[in-house]
Amino acid sequence: MIKAIRGTRDLLPPDTALWDFVESTAREVFRAYNFQEIRTPIFEATELFARGVGEETDIVSKEMFTWEDRGRAASDKSQSLTLRPEATAGIVRAYIEHGLEKRGLNKLFCIGPMFRRERPQKGRYRQFYQIDAEVIGPASSGSDSPARDAEILEMLATLLDRLGITDWNLELNSVGCPNDRAKFNEALRAALEPVKDKMCGDCQRRAVTNPLRVFDCKVPEDQPIIDKLPRISQFLDEPCREHFEAVKSILQAVGIEFHINDRLVRGLDYYTRTAFEFTHGALGAQNAILGGGRYDGLSEAIGGPPAPGIGFAIGEDRLVLSLQEKQSAESIAPKPDAYIAPLGAGMNREAARLARELRRQDLVIDLGDENFRLKKSFETATKAGAKYILIVGENEVKADSFALKNLATGEQISVPRAEVARAIRS
Ligand code: AMP
Repeated sequence: MIKAIRGTRDLLPPDTALWDFVESTAREVFRAYNFQEIRTPIFEATELFARGVGEETDIVSKEMFTWEDRGRAASDKSQSLTLRPEATAGIVRAYIEHGLEKRGLNKLFCIGPMFRRERPQKGRYRQFYQIDAEVIGPASSGSDSPARDAEILEMLATLLDRLGITDWNLELNSVGCPNDRAKFNEALRAALEPVKDKMCGDCQRRAVTNPLRVFDCKVPEDQPIIDKLPRISQFLDEPCREHFEAVKSILQAVGIEFHINDRLVRGLDYYTRTAFEFTHGALGAQNAILGGGRYDGLSEAIGGPPAPGIGFAIGEDRLVLSLQEKQSAESIAPKPDAYIAPLGAGMNREAARLARELRRQDLVIDLGDENFRLKKSFETATKAGAKYILIVGENEVKADSFALKNLATGEQISVPRAEVARAIRS
């Protein structure tokens, strides 16, 4: 028996109804803010993520699914490819490659699978799904404005509320600009020097190569040391400080609550200024349902023009887990309005005609087979959760009037062809 690979899973009905609900709600909300959909490839050149996300991040250094792609002819040069671990780098690459700024396309969203080689557990998978949105463009388009940061955060609050997830918590920080970070990293390196030997292996390495990443550490014994380290908030220059103040002030004006968390640096190197996470209590250890931030230097880092931007990634798997605690998938899974039971030889043709008529009137119709006994048709209709069973036998076809039985009440009536749809609806 061949099974699904560890860290991957099949999403089955009725749960897929919740996934559909999340995605269609996201699409509706994004439309109100004038976002448009982009779909980028599942795999990209490895270099894109190394340069975009950062060599020293956990994602790039340990978690990517990377392989050498040989090419078809023996003379072809091989190329290192990677299954996308996140969506932003690919979207920014597409933005540069297609000159999207000239077409005024600066608000984009993308829904799809991402891949990271992490230790699988509840809420953490190797193939998982993200709903991603980005605002990107030349500074002249206003893409560097704190108004965009606040707009994105307000949009997320709207989406979560619309999904019925009301007990979220917005954690907000500013990670400054590369200048601030250089000073901060220097201060961190100095502060880590005397204590780093007491820390985990990853932190000992980070303390030298990229001290900021020490804040990503999850090892419990390291936390008291990390708590005493300097904070980025002490190193923000005036423009970064002003930007952050402006974001906060708009959020207050639109009534979005937030908490400042000056330990929040996010596990990706491209972030500048605003960084944020939405958490949700019900999820336990994997309590971050989404994260994001500003990435003003990302386009240049991967060879493009200056194009400040801000975006987020919602962990759809975790969002669905949160929803499941409130609402059973069964209750929103679509059920057939009626099950048509053809009864006897030659009735499949008649049943198919009737099904076609009813489906054209937007009814959900499940269709049986003329070889089924009536008892089997009833069992199948009940199992499918149909509201009605509609019997198509020789007598019904002759009379052009069909037996319609309500499966919940047992009530049965005979309904002329032209009236069937109305009878089912009422
Ligand atoms: P990141 O791209 O790391 O900023 O993550 C954004 C969101 O994606 C997180 O807040 C999680 O909800 C979700 N996420 C990240 N990694 C995983 C994973 N391995 N499995 C499930 N969800 C994930």
